Amino acid sequence: MRTLVLNAGYEPLSVVTSRRAALLVMRGKASILAEDGSPIVSPSTLVPRPSVILLHRYVRVVRRRPAAPSRRGILRRDRRACAYCGKPAATVDHVIPRSRGGDSSWENLVACCGPCNVRKGDKTLEQLGWSLRLTPKAPPHHLWLPQELEAPHEAWMPFLDHAPA
Ligand SMILES: [Zn+2]
Repeated sequence: MRTLVLNAGYEPLSVVTSRRAALLVMRGKASILAEDGSPIVSPSTLVPRPSVILLHRYVRVVRRRPAAPSRRGILRRDRRACAYCGKPAATVDHVIPRSRGGDSSWENLVACCGPCNVRKGDKTLEQLGWSLRLTPKAPPHHLWLPQELEAPHEAWMPFLDHAPA
């Protein structure tokens, strides 16, 4: 069981085991915002199993830059839909081809289906008369801060809205 930990400012901070989260609550360092139902039994007490906790003291976080884009990350961001035609995508494409100075950034990589990838080759969108169905950009903060948030619990969703973009 995992628990979402929110910083005192309500932004998602990390994901810990619910046992560790319960310990933080018992020590008065955090309060429970959402419970999971089945309580945790410890030798001396019965505590609700936290699904989301809020830290009482603000933890200063060093802002990490978004991770370098991976093929998996690009496909996930674009929901596995081709940025050019919308069909299911399994490859990624450099919008501005590398041969024309395009870099491998979140802003220049998009999900792409096989046929579009072949047709596009080393050409630019202008040459093909194509346009993008989305504006490629780095994924929102909460998708890359704690890695576990890639597969968030249902109960966490309302709290993830507070994530800074
Ligand atoms: Zn396509």
